[in-house]
Amino acid sequence: MSLLNENFLMLQANYLFSDIAKKVEAFRNANPDAKLIRLGIGDVTQPLPQACLDAMHKAVDEQACSATFRGYGPEQGYDFLRKAIVDNDYTPRGVQLDMDEVFVSDGAKSDCGNIGDILSKDCTIGVTDPVYPVYIDSNVMSGRRIVLLNASPANGFVPAVPSEKIDIVYLCYPNNPTGMTLTKEQLAAWVDYARRNKTVIIYDAAYEAYISDPEIPHTIYEIEGAKEVAIEIRSFSKTAGFTGVRCGYTVVPKALKLAADDGSMVELNHLWNRRQCTKFNGTSYITQRAAEAVYSPEGKKQVRAVIDYYMRNASYIREKLQGLGYTVFGGVNAPYIWVKTPEGLGSWDFFNRLLNEIHVVTTPGAGFGNAGEGFIRITAFGLYEDCVEAMKRFETLK
Ligand SMILES: *Cc1c(COP(=O)(O)O)cnc(C)c1O
Repeated sequence: MSLLNENFLMLQANYLFSDIAKKVEAFRNANPDAKLIRLGIGDVTQPLPQACLDAMHKAVDEQACSATFRGYGPEQGYDFLRKAIVDNDYTPRGVQLDMDEVFVSDGAKSDCGNIGDILSKDCTIGVTDPVYPVYIDSNVMSGRRIVLLNASPANGFVPAVPSEKIDIVYLCYPNNPTGMTLTKEQLAAWVDYARRNKTVIIYDAAYEAYISDPEIPHTIYEIEGAKEVAIEIRSFSKTAGFTGVRCGYTVVPKALKLAADDGSMVELNHLWNRRQCTKFNGTSYITQRAAEAVYSPEGKKQVRAVIDYYMRNASYIREKLQGLGYTVFGGVNAPYIWVKTPEGLGSWDFFNRLLNEIHVVTTPGAGFGNAGEGFIRITAFGLYEDCVEAMKRFETLK
């Protein structure tokens, strides 16, 4: 018997970003003087909001004397942050949550993967294609079967609910990589599907802050009945520049219950709490103070300004590319622009042309799944000047 978790050997090599890095490196060696513009990787570039920095400095100073020093904190997060989350992200949207339905974490990626700890290895997992690869890989590691739900221009990148039962479905809207969103009606159809089939939806709302259209739901709990079927995962990374600081949270409503083998109904909130208490020792106090500051009046203004900055990039890129005749998706309520390759070029072929001919780095859509073939992703997380320059160069592309 192998001592390995053999499921790891089933993982498809995901070398997307290292393959891109290699191609960029080769290009730089061959063209040391070329000015590359990087609109590829999904990392933010603007510094942390001042309100967060001030809160962190203050929290650091508190560690300097025993009266204010903080050691181990609650595994679920400090009440000051859980309360700020409930009061700002949910109550104003008409969603009533208890503080103990919110679990602060070191980021959404960990939670997207770790949540599988409380679910059976036999669950089937539905994910959209193209997809944020974490949903697939973390479940393959546990030996779960993956069902791909095709997202394409034909369905507005929102798959219709399947006819068969899938046990767990990951939905991410606004979507990475397509930058597309869904309407309340579309989300309600998924909640209805979940209620009929006893499916659990894991709703990744990492880009919620980028929504400007009032018709688009910010949280799945805006849909009636969602608390009984959905877990929601959020992050401060793309909202407030926390990609390096690390903080996110997961909502597990107490109304969400699954049947045990003995027929009793078990609260997932209880299991997740147990899981976190055992395997996680909380997000640092300093980080949680920074996250709390996101909800202060200054913090809100500063966060808004950064998001507006990125969204100005997004509209600029979107409009310029449309003007040049490209078919473009996303970039309206999300910081990603999903561009159809011209003349049916493959994702990597178009990526290579952009790199070699106009020195712009993008992400080949095929890296996000088969359904991403024929597209590239451009991020709006760069500098505005770089976006302007990149679009000038697109005009010169033959
Ligand atoms: C960036 C991203 C996350 C990761 O968030 P962290 O909090 O930085 O771990 C989660 N989900 C999606 C879809 C993302 O694009």
